[in-house]
Amino acid sequence: MSIFTKIIEGEIPCYKVAEDDNYIAFLDINPNAKGHTLVVPKKEENKLFDLSKEDYLSLMDFSYRVAKALEKAVSCKRVCTSVIGLEVPHVHVHLVPTNAMEDIQFTKKVKLTNDEFVALAASISSEFE
Ligand code: 5GP
Repeated sequence: MSIFTKIIEGEIPCYKVAEDDNYIAFLDINPNAKGHTLVVPKKEENKLFDLSKEDYLSLMDFSYRVAKALEKAVSCKRVCTSVIGLEVPHVHVHLVPTNAMEDIQFTKKVKLTNDEFVALAASISSEFE
């Protein structure tokens, strides 16, 4: 069972941004930038392109809605996205509010307090449609 499945099942807490029957979005615990969000299918699958085309498009549709909320809640030049999965082998879309190249290089990290995580999640969540 992946760490994200444990989050989905409520065994591990997260700063939740959005959820429906098939997807959950929560803040990355070690963010590249303020508002760095992960969008995760509840059905555990390792690699993005092992998803059926239908599930892939559905994940992207949910990610689009989360990105729109992020754009409203967090000031940045653009929301960038990547799918990696080398650390957690459970498909997830990174959505990163980006101002500079280093924000999407997964090398520079920002430290946030619990209160900042809570406020960010609430603010993004309030824009989610
Ligand atoms: P990747 O697998 O795409 O290389 O990276 C996994 C991402 O998941 C990393 O950005 C890491 O900070 C994040 N991550 C790993 N464990 C947890 C966790 O328990 N909770 C949250 N919210 N994020 C996590």
